This record gives sequence, C-alpha cells and structure tokens, in this order.
Amino acid sequence: MPDRAVPNPSFPKPFIDVRGVSKTFFTKRGGAIEALSQTSLAIAEKEFVCIVGPSGGGKSTLLNIVAGFLKPTTGEVLVSGRRVDRPSAGRVMVFQEFALFPWLTVEDNIGFGLAVSENASTRKERDDIVAEHLALVRLTKFAKSYPSELSGGMKQRVALARALAVNPEALLMDEPFGALDAYTRNNLQRELLRIWEQQRKTVLFVTHSIEEAVYLADKVIVMAGRPGSVRAIIDIKADRPRDESDPEVVAMRAHIRELVLSASEDEHDGE
Ligand code: ADP
Ligand code: MG
Repeated sequence: MPDRAVPNPSFPKPFIDVRGVSKTFFTKRGGAIEALSQTSLAIAEKEFVCIVGPSGGGKSTLLNIVAGFLKPTTGEVLVSGRRVDRPSAGRVMVFQEFALFPWLTVEDNIGFGLAVSENASTRKERDDIVAEHLALVRLTKFAKSYPSELSGGMKQRVALARALAVNPEALLMDEPFGALDAYTRNNLQRELLRIWEQQRKTVLFVTHSIEEAVYLADKVIVMAGRPGSVRAIIDIKADRPRDESDPEVVAMRAHIRELVLSASEDEHDGE
C-alpha cells in the first residue's frame, strides 16, 4: 500500500509545508485542549488533497492554521517558502455554511472580495471577473438573485465562485458539501473537479465522507484525534472520473475506512 507516514524526502519543494505544528487551546476555566500535536504535511502545487478523520481530530484547526486565522502553538506553516502569519487572498476558505451576504445579489457576493483586491482595479475589470465566475459555476441567469432565492447547492456554487474570483493559489474547504443532499453533493463534486481540472488550484478539502475523499483526491490524509495528528497519507492513483465500481476505488475506500476506524478507536484507549 502506498502509505507514507512522513513527507517524502524526494519531494523537494512542497507548496504547502506544515512543519511540526501543534495547537493547544486554553479555556477560560484554566483547562488546556491539545487540538493538534506535531503535525507535518507536504502538499505539492496543484495537488487535490482530502483530509478525513474522526470528529474533534483537529481538521478544522489545521485548516485554520494554514489559512492564517489561527497561530500554531509550536511549528510553522510555509506556503511557497513563506511563513504564514496572517490570512491572505492567496489562500481562501470555503465553509460548510455558505457564508454569503444575504443582502447582496449573487453577482455582488461574487464581486465582494474584488472590491478590496488588487486584481481588479476598475469597475469594468471587476464586472468581467464576476461574469466569468458566474459562467464558471453556471449561474449567469441568477446574477441578480439574492441568496434566499437559491437552493443549497446553488449557494455553495456562489461561495465557490466568490472564493475563486480573487484568483487564490490555494482553496481551503472545510466540509463544504456537508450540508447538501446526496444528489446535490455528487453534482457539486463533479463541478469542483471540472473547475479544478481547468484551473489547477491547490485544494485542501476536509470531509467526513470517505467516498467523497476517494472520488476527489490525489492524496488522502487520515488524521487521528485527541490530539490530532497524521495517521496515514494515501495516494489515490485511479483515473478520473472515478467510478465507485472500479476495484481500485473499492479497495481504497475499504483501506481508508479501516484507518479511520482504528484512528477513532485509539481515542477511546484508556478512557
Ligand atoms: P475537527 O474539525 O476535526 O472536528 P477541530 O479542529 O474543530 O476538529 O477541534 C479539535 C479539538 O480542538 C476539539 O477537541 C475541539 O473541541 C477543540 N477546539 C477547537 N477549536 C477550539 C477553540 N477555539 N477553543 C477551545 N477548543 C477548541
Ligand atoms: Mg471541523
């Protein structure tokens, strides 16, 4: 099995380099929660990486550290060789709750980040980028609609278009399709792959679904919880689009399911 517990040393320049990152939260009542412990990962440019693992395993914490929203207690994250110490338009987050502005139309939601971005200095440039991204997520007809008029799947397309409009190098996605029904979710997975194949952003995608991870990823990171750490790194080599009856896909799902289960069992040792 192509597991790699440590970053491959023959992999010279990772795009996202998580080095020995730990994170301890201190609660108001004086307690300490170790959310992440000594986590190291190397992610190549344009790679599609999924993170799976038990709930409370530090997945969101890791994503927030890579995004620059949280500071690690120890260790560091480098992106393109530069240390992350704040959020940047080069690394955008897409959340499960669509996080759209309800008082803005679809086109103004997509253009929102551009108003404060250097990528679009004129009104015309901004309008062109918005139109391009409306078309990318197939929502041109809904440009003047408000989020309340859209289905969950459409809202998440708007969130994706808004994230891509600022032309980030990396997309950080925290269970982005977790609130959608199965049919819409499958649709969005296909759409995301189509866009990724076109734009080749680096994607770091957290999911609860092993099926989703094996469908999407070049590489799946299995995290163990309490404290969160990397349990295994698995390369998925099956050709895309992946079919759930492909024996390689079936085998990968089973293998990762085993790893996630044993990672969850470890948590209960000694309890
Ligand atoms: P996951 O996304 O894998 O479910 P999280 O990264 O959200 O896990 O959480 C990891 C652990 O850190 C959990 O025990 C959680 O309760 C704790 N935690 C996360 N954020 C905070 C915070 N801001 N303050 C205190 N504890 C936190
Ligand atoms: Mg989470």
